[in-house]
Amino acid sequence: MPLLDLILPRTCAGCEAPNTRWCPPCARTTSLRSIERSTLTTPTYALAPYAGPARRLVLHYKDNRRELAPILGKCLAQALIRLAEDAPPWAEDVWLVPAPSRSVAAARRGGNHMLRAAVHTAGELARHGMTAHVAPALRVAGTRDSVGLTRSQRAANLRGAVSVKRGTTPPPGTPAILVDDVVTTGATAAACVRALDKADIPVVAILAFTATV
Ligand SMILES: [Zn+2]
Repeated sequence: MPLLDLILPRTCAGCEAPNTRWCPPCARTTSLRSIERSTLTTPTYALAPYAGPARRLVLHYKDNRRELAPILGKCLAQALIRLAEDAPPWAEDVWLVPAPSRSVAAARRGGNHMLRAAVHTAGELARHGMTAHVAPALRVAGTRDSVGLTRSQRAANLRGAVSVKRGTTPPPGTPAILVDDVVTTGATAAACVRALDKADIPVVAILAFTATV
C-alpha cells in the first residue's frame, strides 16, 4: 500500500465510498459541456454542475485534501484532450494559466490549489503526448471573500484586483487556457481574461471543473 494511503483518508470525495478517492459512479457524473455567461465572450467549458459529487470534490480539495489534485488534473486533462479532438483552440503547446487564489486563502491551503491541479493536468497531458506548460501568471489582491456578494458587488470587488505577475506569463501572443475549480457569475474569469489580455496573452478557452447552474 502506498504510504499516502496509510496517512490520508481514502474515501471517495464525492460519496465517501471506501478505498477510492473518486469512485466510478461519481466519475460518471462529469462530462464536458459548454457554459454560457453574460460576463464572458471566451468559450467556456465545465465538467459538471456545481452540485453533488463534483461540488463535494471541489470543497474537499479546497478544504485541504490536497491528494485530490491528481484527480482534478486528470479530469481537466481529459477535457482538454476532448477539445483537441475537434478544433483545438491552441496552436502547438498547451499553456495553462491557473485562476489565482487570494493570498490568505492560498496560505491556508498550502499554496494556490488551482496551480497544483494545473501541474497535474499538464503531467497527464504529457502522458498523452501533448506538450503542456503551466504559467501561474495571475494574482488577486485586496478583495473580500466573494461569498454572499451579489453579482454587481462581486464584479466591483474584483475590478482591478486581478493582475499579471511579471515574468510568469506565457510568451506574448501565446493562446492560453484559464483553468478554475468553479465558474459562478463568470466575474472572476472575466477579470482574469482582461488582465491576461492586457499582457498580450489571449485566453482562447476557460475550463472549469464545475459551474453553477
Ligand atoms: Zn463516489
